[in-house]
Amino acid sequence: MLLVTLDPKTVKEENIMLMKKIAVFPGSFDPFTVGHESIVRRAIPLFDEVIIAIGYNSQKQGFFPLETRLEWIKKTFTDVPSVRFEVYEGLTIDFCTKNDAHFLLRGLRTSSDFEYERAIAQMNKMMNEHIETVFMLTMPEHSSLSSSIVREIVRYKSDASKFVPHAFAADMKRFVDDK
Ligand code: ADP
Repeated sequence: MLLVTLDPKTVKEENIMLMKKIAVFPGSFDPFTVGHESIVRRAIPLFDEVIIAIGYNSQKQGFFPLETRLEWIKKTFTDVPSVRFEVYEGLTIDFCTKNDAHFLLRGLRTSSDFEYERAIAQMNKMMNEHIETVFMLTMPEHSSLSSSIVREIVRYKSDASKFVPHAFAADMKRFVDDK
C-alpha cells in the first residue's frame, strides 16, 4: 500500500512531470534485513532512483561496522542500476536537499511505527515543504522483523540467515563466527 500526500500549493503538476523522481530510504540498517530489501524492491518501479542512505552518528557506534553494512547493502542490489548507496551524517531532509531527492521513503510495520513516523514526517514537512514522505506498508511476513531482533540473535551466535538478504547471509554468518 502506498500513501502519498502531494501538496498542490507547493508542487506544481508540470514540475512533477519534469523532475527526476529520486527517493531516499534512510535508516541505520544495522543490519539491513529482508524487510528493508522488500520495501526497496517494491519502490524501485515507482522512482527513477532510490538512494539507500545509512545514517551515521559519530556519537553512537553501531553493532556492525558502517563499512560492512554498506558493503552488504551494495551486494544486495548489484542487479539494480537505479539503486544508489550513501552514508550521511546530520538531518535526513538536508541530505535529501543535497541530493535533489523530493521523496523520503519509510516502511511501516505497526501502529506504533506509524505514530513515530507521522511526527517525524510532519516535522520534516514543516521544515521543507518540497519533500514528501512516502510510506509503504511492510509485507505481513516482515511485520515482526527488526534489525534489533537480528542483532539479538547473532549476539548469542544463533543463525539469523533467513532474516537478511540472501546476497550477504553467508558473509554475516562468517562475520559473526569470527567475532
Ligand atoms: P531507523 O534507525 O531509521 O529506524 P531502521 O534501519 O530500523 O532505521 O529502519 C529503516 C526503515 O525501514 C524505517 O522506515 C523502518 O520503519 C523500516 N523497516 C524496518 N524494519 C522493517 C521491516 N521488517 N519491514 C519493512 N520495513 C522495515
